[in-house]
Amino acid sequence: MITKEREDYLKAIYHLQKDESPVRTTTIAREMGVKPASVTGAIQRMAEHGFLDYQERKGVTLTEEGRRIALEVIRHHRLIELYLIEALGYSWDEVHDEAERLEHAVSPLFIERIAAALGHPTIDPHGAPIPTADGEIPPLSRDKLSEAKPGTVGTIARVNDQDPELLRYLADMDIRPGMQVTVLEVKPFGGPVHIQVNDATHAVGLQAAENIYLKASDD
Ligand SMILES: [Zn+2]
Repeated sequence: MITKEREDYLKAIYHLQKDESPVRTTTIAREMGVKPASVTGAIQRMAEHGFLDYQERKGVTLTEEGRRIALEVIRHHRLIELYLIEALGYSWDEVHDEAERLEHAVSPLFIERIAAALGHPTIDPHGAPIPTADGEIPPLSRDKLSEAKPGTVGTIARVNDQDPELLRYLADMDIRPGMQVTVLEVKPFGGPVHIQVNDATHAVGLQAAENIYLKASDD
């Protein structure tokens, strides 16, 4: 049986698998803010249900079924975030926590109605791709602004959506996904990244720059 807790595990493992595969239980525990012992218990039961493969001392990988469920929850999350902004007037820093709750509760019909009402969007408000109903998802940009070289020209692909304060900081500078950006200067020793967006220049703090992802222009 799939529960809210299991959906959260599958979603977390789906994201963590991009950096580490198999994903160690200690990594999952850190990500989810729970004790490693409770992670082991939960994933053993989920392995019995066929949602993931668990190798002791190595870690877990999602099965096809586990991946399907993770992408379904991510589809819910991203569509709900967009709907809250487009239809209910939320700002982009208010929607993540709301979507964390609602993503588990909505029915397939409800989510397809939302998708249709929004014109079947492919990108969420923070620039992340929305998985299709068939579980297709384009690759995520992994190029951090903090690691960009001066002279890089591209667009802001996405920003991490989990910290409302960061999102307000970016909104104040009018930095959003889809915008053209030129990297002017990267200060050493944790200093800011200087960028140009439209006609304005900004010094973006390193901590913020680590949460902004670029798509470099093809040249
Ligand atoms: Zn979110």
